[in-house]
Amino acid sequence: MVHLLVVGAGPAGMAGALAAADSGFDVLVVDEQARAGGQIFRRPPQAFGGTSHFGPYTWAGDLIERFEAHPRISTSFRSTAYGVLRDRDELGMRLCVGVHTPNGGERVSTDRILIATGAYDMPVAFPGWTSPGVMTVGAAQSLLKSQKVLAGRRVILAGSHPLLLIAAEQLLDAGAEIAEVAFARALPNMAEMASALSAAPGHLRVFAEAGRAVTRLLTRGVKVSKRTIVTEAVGGKAVTGVRLANVDKNWRTVGRTREVHGDLLLLGYGFSPSTELARQAGCEMQWDSRLGGWVVAHDESFATSAEGIYIAGEPTGVSGAEQSWAEGWNAGLHIARSLEVEAGRSAGKIQTELAQARRLLQRSGKFSRVVQSMFEPNREALVALSNPKDTTVCRCELVTSDRIDEVLRNNPFISSGSAVKLECRSGMGPCQGRYCESTVAGRVAQSRGASIESSGFFAAHLPVKPVSLETYRMLSDPGSHSTTG
Ligand SMILES: Cc1cc2nc3c(=O)[nH]c(=O)nc-3n(C[C@H](O)[C@H](O)[C@H](O)COP(=O)(O)OP(=O)(O)OC[C@H]3O[C@@H](n4cnc5c(N)ncnc54)[C@H](O)[C@@H]3O)c2cc1C
Repeated sequence: MVHLLVVGAGPAGMAGALAAADSGFDVLVVDEQARAGGQIFRRPPQAFGGTSHFGPYTWAGDLIERFEAHPRISTSFRSTAYGVLRDRDELGMRLCVGVHTPNGGERVSTDRILIATGAYDMPVAFPGWTSPGVMTVGAAQSLLKSQKVLAGRRVILAGSHPLLLIAAEQLLDAGAEIAEVAFARALPNMAEMASALSAAPGHLRVFAEAGRAVTRLLTRGVKVSKRTIVTEAVGGKAVTGVRLANVDKNWRTVGRTREVHGDLLLLGYGFSPSTELARQAGCEMQWDSRLGGWVVAHDESFATSAEGIYIAGEPTGVSGAEQSWAEGWNAGLHIARSLEVEAGRSAGKIQTELAQARRLLQRSGKFSRVVQSMFEPNREALVALSNPKDTTVCRCELVTSDRIDEVLRNNPFISSGSAVKLECRSGMGPCQGRYCESTVAGRVAQSRGASIESSGFFAAHLPVKPVSLETYRMLSDPGSHSTTG
């Protein structure tokens, strides 16, 4: 039994855990990775040696150090939180989290849960996107950061998110050849950059870092194309190249396509919030395309609509590392305050710290809003990339775009992605729709002339991520295993 169980050890989870632990509460943090840091501060295993650099994020080293040393924080790494349950005992309803650890399944009782599960690269379906040699830019970056492994030799990067430029430079430094960086939108012009800087003066270093990445790429001879989109990965069993097309300002293809040779295609159109655990726990969701699509609704204290469950970081909207840190800090303090109130203790010290945490939130929020509006993906245009016949949409259940269109033709009253899922299994595989949800919803919207939002989202079921049957069995037999905490 712990006071607080945090899912995710990124900036949001670490900050939330520290805030509660500093107030005297016992915290357990569960993360699938081997070490703390989350996506942005992903580090190689300790055995690799060396020191970590966190670029322009000057606060990261201190956050990780304090997190790793705190006596009230225990951690369970290489572990997946796969479902939230509610147990009834003599004290009433208790929250409980199913965790799959390297030593088997555990069922952890807790007073509060903070979901800080981050985000994942936004998937985009087009002919050939499931071929070996097509990856998301975040995946290639993770391989490089955590294992020092290059996923390919001659790389094409395509998308619309600034991470593409940062990753291109990292890959170049690691020895890859960059064939081309294809940007679907125009690069931010001087006027946009000027307005961004005036809206977020405290973030000069981060902007400067991105600007430097572009300059360094260009001076090293890397081709960076604007208004260019990838329409096909060619090569079948392994990628040998991609087809690129020019697009207008609405990302609609114009003119003929051209082929660029390479053995690795990296896609980076932005991120989708990881909300499966929050959905399964019954938290209310809301749509905001700029924030990444479906995000978890919450109040000012970061409490969700599900009692005892709080949210922080990218599941509230994709907003960058500093905003995640600020949200985690705020959420952790609110959780500590609610636990203090429950225990009949005064929460005076927390009040003072909350004022500081709120200021950080306001400052980072300004920057996030600028970046979000500059780089919002054109979702309708991306859905249209899956129009060609036989394009795989659901890679787990092998459902194509034609099959989805057939379902929509044969069932004129279907107006949601979930209804399509029931008809043809798109989204029923092990990823539970993380890869195909946005394309399925987009195809419903395209066919009905409606908004993507109106197609809704897939429900998430326990287990939200694949776990062994042995682990799953323990959920229904709580007496047969240990409880961390
Ligand atoms: C692959 C990838 C690479 C990125 N690289 C950059 C970059 O170079 N620069 C940049 O500015 N931004 C980058 N981002 C954006 C970055 O995610 C955020 O800016 C920041 O890391 C968000 O912090 P967070 O705490 O909200 O989430 P994260 O840092 O993503 O942390 C979430 C953590 O939750 C864990 N988790 C998720 N679900 C579960 C579960 N069910 N059970 C257990 N653990 C779980 C994950 O393993 C992860 O460690 C990247 C994002 C991704 C997805």
